[in-house]
Amino acid sequence: MDRQQEFVLRTIEERDVRFVRLWFTDVVGSLKSVALSPAEVEGAFGEGLGFDGSSIEGLSRVFESDMLLKPDPSSFQILPWRGEEEPTSRMFCDVLTPDQEPAAGDPRWVLRRQLEAAGEMGFTCYTHPEIEFYLFESEELDADGLPRPADRAGYFDHITGSVAQDLRRQTVSMLEAVGISVEFTHNEVGPGQNEIDLRYADALTTADNIMTFRTIVKEVALQHNKFASFMPKPFSEHPGSAMHTHFSLFEGDTNALYSPNAEYNLSTTARQFISGVLTHAPEFTAVTNQFVNSYKRLWGGGEAPSHVSWGHNNRSALIRVPLYKPTKGGSARIEFRGIDSAANPYLAYAMVLGAGLKGIRDEYDLGDAITEDVWSLTTAERKALGIKPLPGTLHDAIRQMEDSELVAEVLGEQVFSNFLRNKQQEWDEYRVNVSPWEINRYLGTI
Ligand code: GLU
Ligand code: MG
Ligand code: MG
Repeated sequence: MDRQQEFVLRTIEERDVRFVRLWFTDVVGSLKSVALSPAEVEGAFGEGLGFDGSSIEGLSRVFESDMLLKPDPSSFQILPWRGEEEPTSRMFCDVLTPDQEPAAGDPRWVLRRQLEAAGEMGFTCYTHPEIEFYLFESEELDADGLPRPADRAGYFDHITGSVAQDLRRQTVSMLEAVGISVEFTHNEVGPGQNEIDLRYADALTTADNIMTFRTIVKEVALQHNKFASFMPKPFSEHPGSAMHTHFSLFEGDTNALYSPNAEYNLSTTARQFISGVLTHAPEFTAVTNQFVNSYKRLWGGGEAPSHVSWGHNNRSALIRVPLYKPTKGGSARIEFRGIDSAANPYLAYAMVLGAGLKGIRDEYDLGDAITEDVWSLTTAERKALGIKPLPGTLHDAIRQMEDSELVAEVLGEQVFSNFLRNKQQEWDEYRVNVSPWEINRYLGTI
């Protein structure tokens, strides 16, 4: 038993923790949880806790269903929303096969593998997510078939006595109680839409933090009799919910993306990384934008990207190089604006990082930054500038992913095929569905 594991066992005893939840995610990023009694934790640290992997979406096949959960002691936290009495705690887990090998279907392992690949090239990857979501009065729909937003506030609005403000404050305290620091919170553009930005951390910790974040936001909303949703585009006429993520690569203490005299302070490594991400973005959009509904966000409005381009301070770009604050040693980072709030963070980060590393490894060239507003260009103008579209539907995204060697390599064959199967099923269900829009449009006129 190592020191971290001993620390967890001691804390469980000292704080009289009654339940220990083991957390992991399925292929689409739904949080899975099993509660252990404290007496079982030592065994879970040893040989792992056995469970039926074939009941978890995309994790394993029926004929190799026995899997083990191995808790990561560094992620141990007491869950503040469960109250002081009979404290409940949680640890994120890696999924192992019965012979103690990493399970190929575990999204956390997919990200770990990319971080190892980055490590072999000398890089540590840090990420900083800006997570948008909507707050509703409840899960019940109004007579118009839509959920009712919890307020009518817009971007940065300060509303006195606003529920959202209380809710964000409580969310931030809870996040901090489980060791997740918050940089920024505000009202976003849509009614009831909010944004909370987490402080940067290494990419695996960030992905774990996002899973915890979603749980806490939903718990806090319920405590206020509200309902929070990370659905990418709940309203046709209001912006969707993005999960912009800033990426940086460090070599030791040095920011590998920074070069003091270069354009926008971007090093050659940074340019190659950006080019890798842009070149492969259409192939991995199914991963960063995994639902039918995700594509209602990426149409070319609502400040969401619809095309593959990069720019300095250009919000229509897929990659934005934000204004940097000159700090000691210099700083540079890359904001990837494609990911939506409903993505599986482990797989999405593995894909962006994997594509960026490919750009560095194969020394990709980067085209010019786009200074125009990509949304307002005509198709011919975009063509002349070499700006390609992102997939327009889940179907389009699936087709582009199917042909991608890079996505197969980064996800591994098992996650690649399980993910595609899951998404194809979703598309097949959607395409046979006749929507109210179609009835409105056609029934009376044809
Ligand atoms: N809500 C926008 C989107 O879905 C992003 C707004 C922003 O720039 O923060 O992409
Ligand atoms: Mg925002
Ligand atoms: Mg942003």
